[in-house]
Amino acid sequence: MIDVNQEYTRELKCEYKGERYKVRDNGAVLRMTREGKPKRPKDDIWTFGDRIDRGYAWFCGEAVHRIVAIAFLGEPPTKQHVVDHIDTNRQNNRPENLRWLTKLENILLNPITKAKIEYWCGSVESFLADPSQLRGHENEDANFAWMRAVSPTEAQNTLANWERILSKPRPENKSRGNAIEEWIFEHNSAYKNDFDFLKSLEPIKKEETPSPVAKNEPTFSLKSVHVITEKPKEQPITKKEFMATLLEICESEGWDYKKYYKTTTWKTDLLITIGNQRIAFSAYNSAKNAAKSLPLIEQAGVKIFGLVLSPKKDDTLNFGCFNLHRNGNTLETTIAKTKLPFDSFVKKAVKDKVIHLTTAKITAVDVIFEQIECWHCHKPHFVFYTRYLVDKNGTRYDDDYFDNECIENNELNIPNLQFGNEILELVKKYINEHPEKSIIMGEVKERYSKTSNQSYISFGCPNCDAIVGDWFLNDLEMSLIYETDENRMNRIQLMTPFEIPVNDWIIVD
Ligand SMILES: [Zn+2]
Repeated sequence: MIDVNQEYTRELKCEYKGERYKVRDNGAVLRMTREGKPKRPKDDIWTFGDRIDRGYAWFCGEAVHRIVAIAFLGEPPTKQHVVDHIDTNRQNNRPENLRWLTKLENILLNPITKAKIEYWCGSVESFLADPSQLRGHENEDANFAWMRAVSPTEAQNTLANWERILSKPRPENKSRGNAIEEWIFEHNSAYKNDFDFLKSLEPIKKEETPSPVAKNEPTFSLKSVHVITEKPKEQPITKKEFMATLLEICESEGWDYKKYYKTTTWKTDLLITIGNQRIAFSAYNSAKNAAKSLPLIEQAGVKIFGLVLSPKKDDTLNFGCFNLHRNGNTLETTIAKTKLPFDSFVKKAVKDKVIHLTTAKITAVDVIFEQIECWHCHKPHFVFYTRYLVDKNGTRYDDDYFDNECIENNELNIPNLQFGNEILELVKKYINEHPEKSIIMGEVKERYSKTSNQSYISFGCPNCDAIVGDWFLNDLEMSLIYETDENRMNRIQLMTPFEIPVNDWIIVD
C-alpha cells in the first residue's frame, strides 16, 4: 500500500463541483476547507478515497478519478466524455493512467463488443468508416441497436482519434485481451453462448435481399465486407402540404385561424385563436432555423409548435419543436417516442394535451431479468438490468438518466439502480413474490476477478459463487439498452421516489 504522502512528484489544485481540491500525481486528493466555512471532518486530509464502489474509488460521493483527471488533464472536451483507466484497473488513479474518452470510444474498447464488430464489419475502423453498413440488419440481433444509433459525425470523429487511442496500449492489455478470448472460446460457455448469435447470422454481404442463415460455424478471420443499401429517399415534405393538412383540420374543427400571420417581431404560418389562447404552428427547413424563430413567438405569449420538414436526422430539440416525416400518404410526427399522425398531433396540441415537462417523479422501475450460464459450473442463473425509470403517470424514461456516466458524474441525485441497497432488496422481494417466473439470482457482493486482477461489486452464480465479470455484464447491458419487448419488463415500485430533470413533451389524455 502506498502512502498518500509519498511517491508523488507533482501536486496541482483544481475546482470541481464547487469544491477546491489539491491533487497529487499518485492519485491522492485533498478537499480544501471552504473559505469562511467551518472545517468538515473530511476536509484537509490526503486520501485515495473513502469508499470503493463498482471497482472505483470514491470520496464523499465523488469519483476520485474524475477529480484527478480534471486537475491533471483539464476539463473534459465535452459533457459526453468519461474517464478511462488505461490499464483497466479502476483504482489506479495516477494521471498517466487516465484519459478522457467519449462513450463510444469507451464501448469500442470492450473486447467482446470489439469482437462482435470485427465479425460484422471486419474491423472497428471499417465500422467507423461507414456505420450505415449495419443498417437493415437491425432485426437480426438486438446488439445492432446501439451501433445503428452511432451518427456519421460521431463515427468520423472517433475514427480520427482511433489510432491515437490504440497508440496508448493498455499495459497488460495484450495478454489480458488474449486471456479474455481464450477464456471466452475455451473455458467459458457463458461467453460461448454469447457468441451463439453468430451462428444464425450471415456476415454482411453486398445483397439487396436478406441473407440466408449461415450453415457453417462462424470463423473469426472474416475480411471486411461492406454493404450499403440506401433506403429509398422520401419525397421532401413541402410547406404547401404542411399548410394543406393544417387548414383542413382548422376547417373541420371550426377553429378561428389566420394564415401567415406577421407582426414586426415575429411571424408564423398559422395562428389559431381559441378564447384568449393563441396557438401557432410553423414549418421550418431545419432545427437551427426553428431555434431562431420560436423564442420570439413564445415571448409574445403564443403557444408555438415548430415542425421541421423532413429532418435529415432526428435531433433532440430543446424547445417546442418536432420532426415531421412522411408515412405513406400521411404526415406524422414523433412525441414521447411514439409516432403520431400529424392531424392527431395538431388536435391534441390545440386542446392543450401536448405538455412540456421539466421534472418527473420516478416512482417505479422496469427491470429485465436475463438468464445466463455460469462460466464455472455451467448452471443457469439470472442477472437483472434496469431498463426504464417510470414516473407516477406511467411515463417511461430511458437509461440516459441512470447510465454509468451520470452516476459517475453524480450530476443527478438519483439512487444506484444497479447495485444500490433499495433496488437489490426490492428485486429479491419481487423474485420471491413471483415464483412462477423461476428466477434464480446469486448474491450481489464484492468478488475478486482474476481477469482484471481486482475486486468489485458483481452478480454471481447462486450455485458456485463464480463472478459475473464486468466485461461480460457491460456487453450484456449493451444488448439490453434498446430492449422493447413488453413481456420482458418487470415493474418494481420504489420505496423512495426521486425526481429527475426532464425536457420532455408528453401527451396527456
Ligand atoms: Zn456457478
